[in-house]
Amino acid sequence: MELLLNKEEKYIFIETFGCQMNENDSERILGILKRLNYKPTDEPYKADMVILNTCSIRDKAEQKIYSALGRLKKLKTYKPDLIIGVGGCVAQQEGEKLLRRAPHLDIVFGTHNIHHLPDLISKVKLNKSRSALTEFSDFIEEESFAYTYEKDYAKNLSQRVKAFVTVMRGCDNFCSYCIVPYVRGREMSRKSNDILQEVERLAEAGIKEITLVGQNVNSYGNKEEDISFAELLRAVCRADGIERIRFITSHPKDMSEDLIELFGEEKKLCRYIHLPVQSGSNTILKRMSRGYTREDYIGKVYKLKRFYPDIGITTDIIVGFPGETQSDFLETMNLIQEMEYDNIFSFKYSPRPETKAAAFADQIAEQIKEERLAILQETQRDITMRNNQKMLGKVVDILVEGRSKTTEGAYDNTINQLMGRTSCSKIVNISGGNAYLGKIVPVRIEKISANSLMGIMVKNREERINICC
Ligand code: SF4
Repeated sequence: MELLLNKEEKYIFIETFGCQMNENDSERILGILKRLNYKPTDEPYKADMVILNTCSIRDKAEQKIYSALGRLKKLKTYKPDLIIGVGGCVAQQEGEKLLRRAPHLDIVFGTHNIHHLPDLISKVKLNKSRSALTEFSDFIEEESFAYTYEKDYAKNLSQRVKAFVTVMRGCDNFCSYCIVPYVRGREMSRKSNDILQEVERLAEAGIKEITLVGQNVNSYGNKEEDISFAELLRAVCRADGIERIRFITSHPKDMSEDLIELFGEEKKLCRYIHLPVQSGSNTILKRMSRGYTREDYIGKVYKLKRFYPDIGITTDIIVGFPGETQSDFLETMNLIQEMEYDNIFSFKYSPRPETKAAAFADQIAEQIKEERLAILQETQRDITMRNNQKMLGKVVDILVEGRSKTTEGAYDNTINQLMGRTSCSKIVNISGGNAYLGKIVPVRIEKISANSLMGIMVKNREERINICC
């Protein structure tokens, strides 16, 4: 351990793939490594340790990890002392196989093993020993969430406005296409008191927006007989200093009436929901083992719209699931038109190891999947543009999050192009200075594009005539 505790400053480069859970896990990894004197860097060439925090939800995501490992092999030739680690879902799925496949790799740590990183690093440094740890644990290692206690965490956050807070992990649903239950384990929730304390720490550090994350947040607390997810959200809404609250991901079958009604009650709860439908065909939903019908899903969306007709809704869609006929696909097309989603995250089905659907005999040809995906995405682009057009001329409140992408990387630290988000999660770019970071400001939408909106700040709040969200 001596080597780990010396005062010499070292650098860690983390590349995060995949979802918000992984982003939050990377924060925890950084928190642990900071205690070992590692400072984050954006430059892999400067790093003493590189960690790939991986995703295996689709074959394409998994292949990206192997390409990244290939690039790191060259880097290690120039820097033989570089420590390379792979964490996350691919690490969990492949375990020791990864060490055999990549001899330049030092550490493989599964999704429940982040807190073991100091030991794994110590083994590399002291014994030059490479290891893989992928055991599932039957508890949530709360100490790995303590990164928000770090003294410099608040300082690092001075430029940040929002943070993710993990509320649960794993999934018990076993949708027939999904690898998550195999690589993240069964559902396990953190204690509500621990979550609320973390939210308080984040609020004290200046965070304005919290997103509660979990694979299936609607099942929060069920097994542990803790408070329900709706009750947890209500408690988070009470936190002083936090102005906006979001959550992800919600399973349509588990979305309770209480949760829907909360949208009508809690002002801090953003008027936005990501509600993955996956398919518009009841036949395919059944084969996916999703546990709801198209009609159930539509019914829940209309209930949400009863509170806020303009609520922002996004979804996930898989095209080319085994057995998907043209008529099934047309039902999905018809659904996206009816739901008028603000955006969809759409993918071609790709078989994942261990899942039920990978063994289905009626796999769809790649070309058909590609054609269906292109048609779906083009149609959604039109829907998104139509939704954005409805915003023209309206005055909306945005929470200013940081520099707009167009000015990222500029040397001048006078921020003159900022980006913020409406409550319904539309990105709006505006002109303004540093002082607006972390503030909620009213802006009038002046221009639109498919991906974002451009607005100008309204000086007088009285001008907020058409507030949509
Ligand atoms: S609900 Fe289904 S798709 Fe979502 S993580 Fe669980 S198994 Fe995967």
